[in-house]
Amino acid sequence: MPTLAYLLLGSNLGDRAARLAQARHDLAATAGRLVAASALYETAAWGLTDQPAFLNQVLAIETDLAAPTLLAACLAAEQQQGRERQVRWAARTLDVDILLFGQEILATPTLTVPHPALPARRFALVPLAELAPQLRHPQLHQTISELLSACTDPLPVQRITA
Ligand code: ADP
Ligand code: MG
Repeated sequence: MPTLAYLLLGSNLGDRAARLAQARHDLAATAGRLVAASALYETAAWGLTDQPAFLNQVLAIETDLAAPTLLAACLAAEQQQGRERQVRWAARTLDVDILLFGQEILATPTLTVPHPALPARRFALVPLAELAPQLRHPQLHQTISELLSACTDPLPVQRITA
């Protein structure tokens, strides 16, 4: 049985929209079937604020991979676009995070699912709510739409494509 996973793409360096498009292309080849993609959303950088704004997008991917293998595909897509890890929260060409992996709950040193920051980050909840407002968080038991209503993240998230 394939798993429906939700991935968050983010970029704040170079041609951000082109980087997200390349990531969709790469992930469709390595991770599974791309069943839905949210609009693109722009948000000021979180954490280290002295850097360009991010473009974010959520993808729904139907995958036969196990979660750790899906993570490897996400990290490979980042590498494909020259991602370098330096400082925490630094500008990045491409970031690919697993928000949800079906209803699975995982906590290993290299992979935590659902993504622990999801409830606290409007830039993840807004595009996810566009695709799956009624989806229930497997640990918090609230829907994505309820998590968004309760989210106190002050950073505005602006939809930039139709
Ligand atoms: P962040 O996304 O928090 O800015 P990074 O992209 O540098 O940080 O990711 C660092 C590590 O976080 C990854 O190498 C991965 O092992 C780990 N990680 C843990 N849980 C997840 C998840 N749900 N999605 C993506 N990476 C995760
Ligand atoms: Mg990441």
